[in-house]
Amino acid sequence: MPRSHKTLPRLYVHADLGSGYEVGLEREQTNYLINVMRLGAGDAVILFNGRDGAWMAKVTDPHRKGVTLQCVEQTAHQTPAPDLWFGFAPLKVGRLDYLVQKATEMGAGTIQPVITRYTQVHRLKADKLEANIIEAAEQCEVLAVPTLGDEIALADLIAHWQRDHGLRRLIFCDESAPSGSPVSQLRRVEGLPVGILIGPEGGFSDEERTLLLQQSFVIPVSLGPRILRADTAAVAALAVVQSIIGDWR
Ligand code: SAM
Repeated sequence: MPRSHKTLPRLYVHADLGSGYEVGLEREQTNYLINVMRLGAGDAVILFNGRDGAWMAKVTDPHRKGVTLQCVEQTAHQTPAPDLWFGFAPLKVGRLDYLVQKATEMGAGTIQPVITRYTQVHRLKADKLEANIIEAAEQCEVLAVPTLGDEIALADLIAHWQRDHGLRRLIFCDESAPSGSPVSQLRRVEGLPVGILIGPEGGFSDEERTLLLQQSFVIPVSLGPRILRADTAAVAALAVVQSIIGDWR
């Protein structure tokens, strides 16, 4: 009995996908399918590349050095990348991996490292972060893999925000914001593109908070009466935004 598409392994590939297209896998993905998932000739997987939707493909040549698959049928049409921008001050490695994975699962379209005065980590390993983003995309069945931005200093981000983001509003997660439900704050920006900004473990400096609050496009939002760790605040903010003005409605 053929497995439902929902239960098939999902793999992100760079190759173009289309009816009859052959796709050769790299060593790591080959090892995963052959040695971990124990797949053989004729077994099916779901492939996606962020451009051509999702395709059910079958193993045609389980050669250990590099598996080849052939696309059989499209199982999902390509969906546009979510328009949710997510900015964060990089955290220590382990929690950084967690943060980019959760941002992917929670529907961020752009994941943007923002360097602030108290940011602890500089010079990020982009390839490792991108691998975490892809792994999360494979697991949560998104079809558009979020874009990882190049590190940018907070002052530069703010200086160029309106040039780069037009009408997008920036939801500044601020533990010093007047506490209260974010619903009324977020309802003000319903229908507009938004971004979310989370600070580092050491918080934003007073100068940075002043700079942010001076901007007409910035909406300060409290995430409740307790001080949340940055990665907790990230998930909380993404959940609040998605449930009030995002794609959870
Ligand atoms: N300034 C904090 C302190 O006094 O310990 C440290 C910053 S907190 C660990 C990291 C980031 O999470 C903050 O910069 C903010 O963006 C967000 N955050 C944490 N708790 C929050 C809250 N209650 N409301 C809004 N944002 C919060």
